[in-house]
Amino acid sequence: MTIEPMPSKILCVGKNYLDHAREMGSEPPEEPLVFLKAPSALLLDGAPIVIPEGVGRVDFEGEIAFQVGRKARFVPESEALSVLSHVFPLNDVTARDLQRKDSQWARAKGFDTFCPVGRPIPLKDLSKGVEGLKVETRVNGELRQEGAMKQFIFSLPFLISWLTRVMTLQPGDILATGTPAGVGPLAPGDEVEVTIPGVGSVRNPVVAESRPDGR
Ligand code: MG
Repeated sequence: MTIEPMPSKILCVGKNYLDHAREMGSEPPEEPLVFLKAPSALLLDGAPIVIPEGVGRVDFEGEIAFQVGRKARFVPESEALSVLSHVFPLNDVTARDLQRKDSQWARAKGFDTFCPVGRPIPLKDLSKGVEGLKVETRVNGELRQEGAMKQFIFSLPFLISWLTRVMTLQPGDILATGTPAGVGPLAPGDEVEVTIPGVGSVRNPVVAESRPDGR
């Protein structure tokens, strides 16, 4: 696992698309719902997502993710995009049954291999800018999710400004911006791919856990 620099935190936004909030049986939040994924969950393109034993359903969540380029605190919305340096696809793999069972999501979102990321692309290389970005998720080649930044409940500048009123963003930190409708379960033998058209993909096989010590 080589991610440079390793993030001090992976910040994720929950329910940032109306159609996904509704498919989860909830109303859109009145303010951003944020949670953290463990940096130890990071996984590169091509490496296997490992489904742990006995956790029940494990879902894919294709997302547009950004890397923070500079230290940031109390940043106004008008300057918020200047905090970001790179964009890449991210799969917010989630143990859904555990997420429903636990009021804190550290376990459901934090298993090793539950955060596949694609190769970071500098924002300055985007020909159409940030606002037109889209995300697609495919399982075994079949399109399962489609979303676009223009569908966000909370815009990217709003999210960054809001987050920097909570905590200091550090270079290398990752912001995952939420998943559109269409989430679904993964099974061993599947291959899941999250694509940001014009940016790149992260594609990972799915395997069952095999513990060397048998425990
Ligand atoms: Mg998510």
